[in-house]
Amino acid sequence: MARYTGPACRLCRREGRKLYLKGERCLSGKCAVERRASAPGQHGAQSKKMKEYGLQLRAKQTAKRYYGVQEGQFAKYYEKASKKSGVTGENLLSLLERRLDNVVYRMGMAESRRDARQLVLHGHFRLNGKKVTIPSISLKVGDVITVREESKSSAKIKELIEKMQATKNFPKWLECDSANLSAKVVAIPEKSDIDFEFQEQLIVELYSK
Ligand code: SF4
Repeated sequence: MARYTGPACRLCRREGRKLYLKGERCLSGKCAVERRASAPGQHGAQSKKMKEYGLQLRAKQTAKRYYGVQEGQFAKYYEKASKKSGVTGENLLSLLERRLDNVVYRMGMAESRRDARQLVLHGHFRLNGKKVTIPSISLKVGDVITVREESKSSAKIKELIEKMQATKNFPKWLECDSANLSAKVVAIPEKSDIDFEFQEQLIVELYSK
């Protein structure tokens, strides 16, 4: 299935909650969810009581859209999570959180995960010293992300560097060095490290059918 390229706010309205897909706008009064919380479309404003499957589906779509992952890729994350020891739903969130584009976003170098994905695709980062252009790479403990020397002179990156240097709240599983524009994964992120409420158990129920 092709990547969704339509309006990001429509996805939030469909899920009935903020997914924080557009950076600062999401925190302003311009946020579409704050202005009009109903789902998009002709019948969006009608209230519908969701059945079990509907709730499970919405839980999956929320996680997928929050991290900007496509359907097939999400199913692969689930398969991987279910093969690991521990709680499958929490394993799934941990894998999604360790995606390279999410790490760039958590470093404070992008306004949104979409922007972080573009930065990675354009080759602005190194992973353990090697140029990397794959946003979906899942990082492990010890991995180090740095900004490429060649990229530091670009106006866009200079702007992002200032943004990172102004960031105060880095996640504790990521050791960020604003002076050297780098971040090291120092722990596997847990559910409690993620500042968004997911219903991962419903996702597990959906895939277990
Ligand atoms: Fe979602 Fe952000 Fe748009 Fe609000 S402004 S609807 S949180 S993408």
